[in-house]
Amino acid sequence: MRKFLILGGVHGVEPQSAYVAHHLANYYNLQKSNDPRFLELFDLYTGSLEPKAQLVVIPDFNRYGLKNNTRGNERGVDLNRNLPAFNWSSNYQDKVYFPGTAPASESQTKLLVEIINNNKFDLIISLHTNHFVKNPNPPQVNFDGIEVSWGFEQAKILGKLLELPVTTDIGYSTPGSLGSYCKQINTPCITIEFDDKLSKEGVWALYAPEIIRYLTGDLG
Ligand SMILES: [Zn+2]
Repeated sequence: MRKFLILGGVHGVEPQSAYVAHHLANYYNLQKSNDPRFLELFDLYTGSLEPKAQLVVIPDFNRYGLKNNTRGNERGVDLNRNLPAFNWSSNYQDKVYFPGTAPASESQTKLLVEIINNNKFDLIISLHTNHFVKNPNPPQVNFDGIEVSWGFEQAKILGKLLELPVTTDIGYSTPGSLGSYCKQINTPCITIEFDDKLSKEGVWALYAPEIIRYLTGDLG
C-alpha cells in the first residue's frame, strides 16, 4: 500500500491549499489525532483508503499564518525555507522569505521532520498556490527527486489529470524548502501550485475530482 503525506497551509497567504487538504481529509473520513503535541501546532489526520493508499494529512501546517494572512509563522519564518536541507541558508531576498535563525528552528518544522522520519512515505504532496512576492511562476506541478522514478511518474500523472505543466525546476532557488529536504532523504515530493486567482472553493471544485481520481486510482 502506498503511503502519502499531504501538506496544506504552509504559507498562510495561500488558504486554498489548506481548504483542499481539509476537504480531502473530510472526504476520506480520516481520523484526527488527539495527540496534544500535534493539536498545539496543527491538525493531523490519518486513514487508509483500502486497498491502495494510506494517507497522512496536515491541512494547516502554518496555523498562525492562515489565521493572520501571513506567509510566515508567528515568528515571521517562511516554513518552506526552514527545513534542515543541506542547502539551508541564512541569506534571504526579502523578509517574507526569512528562513529562521537555524535549520529546523521552528516547532512546526521539527515536528514535520519527525513525522517524515517516522513514516516511510512513498510520496509527499505539498499544496501551494502561485502567490508570489518576488518570484512570479505559473500554476504547476513541481517535482523534487530522481527523474527516472515512480515519484516522477506520479508527477506526470498528476500534471495530466490537473492539466498543469510538470516542472523539475521552479525557476528560482529555494534553500531549506521541503522539496530540497525530500531530495536529500530520497523521498519523492510533489509541490502543486494552484492558480492563486482562484478562490478556495474554486480550487476545490476544479481539482478535487481529479485529485480523488488519482488517490483512488491505480498507484502502481
Ligand atoms: Zn507557497
